[in-house]
Amino acid sequence: MPQRNEDDRSKKIVFVSNCLLNASNKVQEFARYPGMFTQVVQTLDKYGVGLIQMPCPEVLHMGCQRWWHSRNLYDNAGFRHFCRTLAEQMVDYMENYAIVGYDVVAVLVCDGSPTCGLTVSSYYENGGGHPAEPVRSLRKQPGIYTEELLKAIQARGIQAPPMYGLLMDDREKTNEQIIAEFDEFIRGRLS
Ligand code: SF4
Repeated sequence: MPQRNEDDRSKKIVFVSNCLLNASNKVQEFARYPGMFTQVVQTLDKYGVGLIQMPCPEVLHMGCQRWWHSRNLYDNAGFRHFCRTLAEQMVDYMENYAIVGYDVVAVLVCDGSPTCGLTVSSYYENGGGHPAEPVRSLRKQPGIYTEELLKAIQARGIQAPPMYGLLMDDREKTNEQIIAEFDEFIRGRLS
């Protein structure tokens, strides 16, 4: 069989949470940039890495008019099943890249999100109670989509890519600080 010619592709890909490329999908009051988090795109472009925008489970499930929500409210069979269905298609991409030896450099998600958090996700201490005054905290556990994505990767028998959570809920950190830390992570991953 004739050898296929090489082209300019780097064969390096990062999967990113949907709202990093479209702030309008964030729950109301949580967007930190008007449209795209452009520095994420610039950082990946600087290293010649392509990106795949993962679907936004919350918008697809609850719409843009949704209330703030929490991990313990989203932690139900229906939402998990929905997230798993979305995750399976992302794992199809990963499996196809694994077949040809492309490098999934990372999965980039939004820490603090009840759905796309990695190391922390929001939790309502009084979830299930009166909705007027939810008591919100961050707990050290992944969001529901992230958890289902990891399970789907494991079930498929492919190697889990490194995961990285941008701490978008941390108002003490500027976008520049968040990006500087991410840049360091990507640089380390590619070196
Ligand atoms: S963090 Fe996830 S669920 Fe929340 S807006 Fe972004 S993509 Fe959607």
